[in-house]
Amino acid sequence: PSVHILGISSTIRFSCSGQEVDITPSSPGITLCLCFSVELYVSDKCGSDQDGDGTEQKPFKTPLKALMFAGKEPFPTIYVESQKEGERWAVISKTQMKNAKKAFNREQIKSDAKGKKEAEDTERREKNLEEAKRIIIEKDLSLPEPEMVKIGHLESKRGQRVKVFGWVHRLRRQGKNLMFIVLRDGTGFLQCVLSDKLCQCYNGLLLSTESTVALYGTVTQVPEGKQAPGGHELHCDFWELIGLAPAGGADNLLNEESDVDVQLNNRHMLIRGENISKVLRVRSTVTQCFRDHFFNNGYYEITPPTLVQTQVEGGSTLFNLNYFGEQAYLTQSSQLYLETCIPALGDTFCIAQSYRAEQSRTRRHLSEYTHIEAECPFISFEDLLNRLEDLVCDVVDRVLKSPAAQLLYDINPNFKPPKRPFKRMNYTEAIEWLREHDIKKDDGTYYEFGEVDVLMPNVGEIVGGSMRIWDADELLEGYKKEGIDPTPYYWYTDQRKYGSCPHGGYGLGLERFLTWLLNRHHIRDVCLYPRFIQRCRP
Ligand code: ATP
Ligand code: MN
Repeated sequence: PSVHILGISSTIRFSCSGQEVDITPSSPGITLCLCFSVELYVSDKCGSDQDGDGTEQKPFKTPLKALMFAGKEPFPTIYVESQKEGERWAVISKTQMKNAKKAFNREQIKSDAKGKKEAEDTERREKNLEEAKRIIIEKDLSLPEPEMVKIGHLESKRGQRVKVFGWVHRLRRQGKNLMFIVLRDGTGFLQCVLSDKLCQCYNGLLLSTESTVALYGTVTQVPEGKQAPGGHELHCDFWELIGLAPAGGADNLLNEESDVDVQLNNRHMLIRGENISKVLRVRSTVTQCFRDHFFNNGYYEITPPTLVQTQVEGGSTLFNLNYFGEQAYLTQSSQLYLETCIPALGDTFCIAQSYRAEQSRTRRHLSEYTHIEAECPFISFEDLLNRLEDLVCDVVDRVLKSPAAQLLYDINPNFKPPKRPFKRMNYTEAIEWLREHDIKKDDGTYYEFGEVDVLMPNVGEIVGGSMRIWDADELLEGYKKEGIDPTPYYWYTDQRKYGSCPHGGYGLGLERFLTWLLNRHHIRDVCLYPRFIQRCRP
């Protein structure tokens, strides 16, 4: 029987085979499992010492296992395969039992020794820790005052005494007197050497990866032929523990073999790793390059609201929202607001979140993404295409000229920047071209008249743009055709009444762009905390 203990004062009395047993539990919340076995079964033919439980249905394989299961004398009756015709089980022979008991005693001695060794190890560790508490490390006041420096700026500080803060990225102990730390602070990695008292002290014994520390020491160029990030290492003369992480560091939460969901649940730890942090760094630079592109071309940036009462795409991907009792949505695109800004600011752009309630899991759909959108007055369709081409090529150029270029090539060694001019074709030609080159949609069918945007290999549509309807009547007709109530769009319609103009614009998904640039398999690989169906954390 399995018994769950609810209170601590209750005594449970069991009766089994004429014996009575009292159990007085000491703590509530424990589930006790009591096994009373009066006989055990062993079968060398069909039993198993791993999966058996000693019953007739699941016998053990060896008598030794049965004795070990029983634990101590008096042993229960042991049944083995019978030699007699027509009889399944027979009580174990005296000789067999004698041999089994001998083996049992030997095991007993062995396991006693093992237990003793373990106890000794624990004791020794505790003693070491106690002793380590007495080893006090102190700042050497005769040394020059250290300058606080980020890891990325250490090259010019070689030969000087510095103080560096960071996270213990990797840790290796070599004997009792030497410890190597690879320190991480976001600007780079630094190899650090701690010796003697610095590793023998209490914190030195406890230190684990992902702990935060302040290291004091001298930046020293590594000798010819030796490798270290940045070409130098820190010879420490003092250090302080700032935040101790649990023993084993992030390995407690996940490792390289963890499954996808465990990785996603622990992405807050995973981003500390070299690969994902590289992706995030490239993402930061790419975002800046988009901004630089726009500012360099005279655009203004706006920050439009994302809580809206109008839709831009189809209703099927709208997230509904109770807005103080009124129906509202999370925006699918900021295009309409950008259009209202061109009479005020001229060329305008925004980098804002867009939301799509995408019902299916694909490699390129998120439910929240960073949308880079622009809107330009008084341009022709030709101008729009030029701007689109220039956007993609100029941003790539800027990234390749930035310090992030190396990271990009680390991640995607085969990256080839796109060449100008892009191939331009009209719609019907494009459909033809895709058929001729056997380029199909995800579902394996060809593109039909009515679909197609800027499609990039592997990630599909990266940027979609168009010339907007600027005639008031045509717009009203459009609402009608799509079955949209024009009332909430009054402010959008007003753009066509108060000084309408031919204009066009586009929207580019930052994550799709990065997936292409970094040649990632899945769009979620380029997100900090990706949002897609059934995933809204961390
Ligand atoms: P798709 O056909 O691939 O779903 P879409 O037609 O919905 O794209 P648009 O509404 O034109 O795309 O959005 C403009 C840009 O936003 C797209 O070119 C793409 O880069 C990006 N984008 C659209 N939907 C998503 C999404 N669910 N996740 C990430 N990026 C997206
Ligand atoms: Mn879509």
